[in-house]
Amino acid sequence: MATKSLKKQNNKLALANKQLEVLSSGIFENGELPTFIDKISNTNNFPLRPKKLEILQLNLGYMCNQVCEHCHVDAGPDRKEIMTIETMQQCLEVIKTTGAHTLDLTGGAPEMNPNFRWFVEEASKAGVKDFIVRSNLTIIRANKKYYDLPDFFKKHNVHVVSSMPHWTRGKTDKQRGEGVFDKSIKALQELNERGYGMPGSNLKLDLVYNPSGAFLPSDQAAMEKDFKKALHEDFNIQFHNLFAITNLPIARFLDYLIASENYEDYMYNLVNAYNPAAVQNVMCRNTISVSWDGWLYDCDFNQMLELKVASKVKHISDYNEEVLNDRNIIVSQHCYGCTAGAGSSCQGSVA
Ligand code: SF4
Ligand code: SF4
Repeated sequence: MATKSLKKQNNKLALANKQLEVLSSGIFENGELPTFIDKISNTNNFPLRPKKLEILQLNLGYMCNQVCEHCHVDAGPDRKEIMTIETMQQCLEVIKTTGAHTLDLTGGAPEMNPNFRWFVEEASKAGVKDFIVRSNLTIIRANKKYYDLPDFFKKHNVHVVSSMPHWTRGKTDKQRGEGVFDKSIKALQELNERGYGMPGSNLKLDLVYNPSGAFLPSDQAAMEKDFKKALHEDFNIQFHNLFAITNLPIARFLDYLIASENYEDYMYNLVNAYNPAAVQNVMCRNTISVSWDGWLYDCDFNQMLELKVASKVKHISDYNEEVLNDRNIIVSQHCYGCTAGAGSSCQGSVA
């Protein structure tokens, strides 16, 4: 299990241009596999265009208390990139006027941003319909100062979306680090005690599953059933929905694919599982992603690849929804991860 981010290790795959180089060479350069642009052109989906904006996703920073094997953010305790209060203020101005109905806070561990609570308090006043915080769960048990997070979430009626790669200790700890499973279970029980995830409760608690190796997730509905049964039987835990997410071949998952000699097979799997129906609902079509330093991206993955939006509005300080909506979405081979099988987004399957 890694204890440092790729960036801290000085691994060349910490650089966005190196990742893009890998994704454009070899099997894609020699024509063995079609590029993503060629593939979507065949179904008249190029250039990919936004639909109505629904989700504003803010990345509050790349710092995290974990160093998960497949993290697409390359997050970890050694990452120091954190959204400043000035950028948060610019985001708040946008939140007050956006047509998006969902505000989605992510990281890293967004709770580790020192201004996280202030920001949630301010943002919740704007009255967005769905206010999501993506919590890795273990942060709730990482340090005393976070123990009251379940109460804080409840007070602001935050929708908690949490990663949980498996209902067994072995598979979870292998992907996310030793002790993660036990802490996650404890955190889920505490959320349940506040009413989160209970049948009929409006305190929403959803879980996110991503595969532990170089394979695609299986059927989301069937997995949700299995997760619900196992977590309830073993730990009396309840939750609302399970989102099954495909690992995209970037950052630490790309490093894992290359190191385990699975990269080409995985890309073949993604391309062979291409589903034109999923292209209609890829999340970049209804989302804008804002980085810790205020730059705008089509999605969190493009953010990690440093592919800023193809618009004259590129920063939160110049935000203009109408201008932004009139753009072409930037795509590359990593996008096959969003269109394979049932498709994948931060809200799970899309097709
Ligand atoms: S908890 Fe999330 S952000 Fe943190 S290292 Fe794991 S996958 Fe990355
Ligand atoms: S990776 Fe981003 S840009 Fe590409 S299809 Fe997925 S959401 Fe859209």
